[in-house]
Amino acid sequence: MNIALFVQKKEGICINNQKELFILPNNRILYIRPEAIEKINHYRQIRWTDTEAGGILIGRVLMEDGNYIVDDVTEPMPTDKRSRTRFSRKQEGHQEYFNDVWKRENGRCFYLGEWHTHPESVPVPSSIDRKDWSRLLNLGYETGCLFFIILGIDELKVWYGTEDKIIELKRRN
Ligand SMILES: [Zn+2]
Repeated sequence: MNIALFVQKKEGICINNQKELFILPNNRILYIRPEAIEKINHYRQIRWTDTEAGGILIGRVLMEDGNYIVDDVTEPMPTDKRSRTRFSRKQEGHQEYFNDVWKRENGRCFYLGEWHTHPESVPVPSSIDRKDWSRLLNLGYETGCLFFIILGIDELKVWYGTEDKIIELKRRN
């Protein structure tokens, strides 16, 4: 049953920074915690020598309202392939990090998707990105959907993928 993946809101979570709120087609909300944003921002490709970076999104679905929260992300691992315009994530390191969080949270966390950077002002997914995302969506996950973040030099954008489509999410005003 899907209910197992819904977890209760933890004390102290305060959804108040509009920059990190995105609206799903079903009016649910995706919230990316500032701590996670901060980790991703560290890899913004500002210098011409900066290579692409990426990792996985770890989070929860709230029992009360079905909203999604990205609590944490993994950062590039030594075995990942990184170049100026390509990031290829390997399982090594990311899986172990997830397992540690999973243990610490007593199983109350989920793989929610992927993030990576682009060396362009406003990020546009490449055909390789879209192929990668479709491949992941076809594997099927508990949540029935995945989120894909791309951080450009000036903007962070989020795409929402389900079995049959991938759409860009709008920020909540
Ligand atoms: Zn890309």
